[in-house]
Amino acid sequence: MKYLAIKQHFNHMKDSDPPGKIIGLTGGIGSGKTTVAHLLQEAGFPVYTSDDRAKDIVNDNPALKEQIQELLGAKAYNEEGKYDRKYVASIVFNNDELLLKLNALIHPAVRKDFESWISFQTTDYLFKETALLFELGLDKECWKSLLVTADDNLRMKRVMDRDGKTYREVENVIEKQMAENEKIKRADFIIYNNSDLSQLRLETEKFLKQLNEFAV
Ligand code: ATP
Repeated sequence: MKYLAIKQHFNHMKDSDPPGKIIGLTGGIGSGKTTVAHLLQEAGFPVYTSDDRAKDIVNDNPALKEQIQELLGAKAYNEEGKYDRKYVASIVFNNDELLLKLNALIHPAVRKDFESWISFQTTDYLFKETALLFELGLDKECWKSLLVTADDNLRMKRVMDRDGKTYREVENVIEKQMAENEKIKRADFIIYNNSDLSQLRLETEKFLKQLNEFAV
């Protein structure tokens, strides 16, 4: 069923083709990248959600857990042994060196998990959703990049509504991420998400057509 959906977009695909081209899906906080990821999945495309997988991996990988506790202390995990995201965020948010060290521990584990995931995929195109695709230079490991972008004030409002965060809290995160105009310069494909959800669906379909034309 999934495969049929993909074939509607990519009629040049053959069953025997080797597993596919990786498209890095990214966007700043509240840009709508997760919403686009769901639309792509609905259209039959496999999407690996790096940030979600990382949340599981920090709990499921005992060696990684040990390394994180060595770096950040035992309190990085709560009494039930679960990764304490809030605590970790509070100590690394304003400590770039520590954040870098934490990322250096988590990313190889996520990469390994991604490699295992990819070995099970059979489609021509695969999406890898990563918030910090350009910031971490991970776009170099992808065939193409797809940026979802929206105006800062709209992103702020969407995140405040979604997470109950204050204006200042969201602004703090935005200030730490690469500026949108810088990402726009680097991206191969762009979906602008400045209108409602039905428009986002149309923009996503437009992108899929563009990709199809590009690939033929
Ligand atoms: P984050 O990086 O914070 O996880 P994200 O880029 O994954 O954010 P989403 O979670 O997809 O962004 O979207 C942020 C919020 O805005 C969600 O609540 C989503 O439902 C809403 N949203 C996204 N696009 C639109 C839109 N076009 N119209 C209205 N609401 C939207």
